[in-house]
Amino acid sequence: MQFHPGLASKDEVQGPAEIDYRLQRRRLLRDIEHGNVDREEACEIHPELLRVARNAAPSINELCPLCHDEELRIVAYVFGPRLGPGGKCVISDEELQKIAQRKGRFTSYEVEVCSACGWNHLRRRYPLD
Ligand SMILES: [Zn+2]
Repeated sequence: MQFHPGLASKDEVQGPAEIDYRLQRRRLLRDIEHGNVDREEACEIHPELLRVARNAAPSINELCPLCHDEELRIVAYVFGPRLGPGGKCVISDEELQKIAQRKGRFTSYEVEVCSACGWNHLRRRYPLD
């Protein structure tokens, strides 16, 4: 199981610009609310992503849109030269900066995660440079 559906698969053709996923997020939340999308499906989470979020990822001042129980945590996945096909999981700005200084093009995918119910969604994708 990929840690998030759609991640990186379309990346190559979309170019380096920043992409914001707020619209898709809102649409998905509305679909869940209306029962068009199964909540459990939306909260399906890769165990590794959940583990990272629980143990190390910084939380932001925003409650989970589904369970309203936990503050969301931010995990970034960076793709680029020598980071492997699955990308590299990064949770600190410092580490992001270090990667940005390397040679080559790197793209960061910011994912929000609720460590209580498992809600996870892409927030944005942006080039590191
Ligand atoms: Zn939640």
